[in-house]
Amino acid sequence: MTSTTTHETHQRRAIEPNGTVHAARYAGDRAHFTTACAAYPAPTIETLEDGPSPAVTCPSCQAVCRGIDPDDATTGTRCPAAHPEDPTPCTGPAVVTVLDTRNHGADGCEHHAARLLASLKGSRVYHLPHAPEGAAIRVFTAAGDLPPFAWMHPTPDH
Ligand SMILES: [Zn+2]
Ligand SMILES: [Zn+2]
Repeated sequence: MTSTTTHETHQRRAIEPNGTVHAARYAGDRAHFTTACAAYPAPTIETLEDGPSPAVTCPSCQAVCRGIDPDDATTGTRCPAAHPEDPTPCTGPAVVTVLDTRNHGADGCEHHAARLLASLKGSRVYHLPHAPEGAAIRVFTAAGDLPPFAWMHPTPDH
């Protein structure tokens, strides 16, 4: 599967009982659909809308649909904050969003979010609603110890 996830491919809206709105598309028939964020386990969906409204509120779906290709050959299983040239794997689920100065955001695990934060001048980090307490602080602290584009400066073993 190397299809690209965009607002165009995910024009349905899958709404959870708690009101979270995912961008979704049917996978085969109306009883099966996938969300842009590829949440697993699949969220409980109360309502499936046929069109692109209401607005997506799921942060992961928003990040994915903003044009960050989650199916990039080298980043397929990694969080959106992982730089394509950064070969390291995620350290866990996406727990924070890194926003650049133009408020373009990418969700990331603590590891990649810290690297992205250290690389983007003027960027900020916010924890996602389901994130454990302190995630954003840990990312912020870790970023302070990192050079920009840390993956281009491999840490010496000694
Ligand atoms: Zn979602
Ligand atoms: Zn990651």
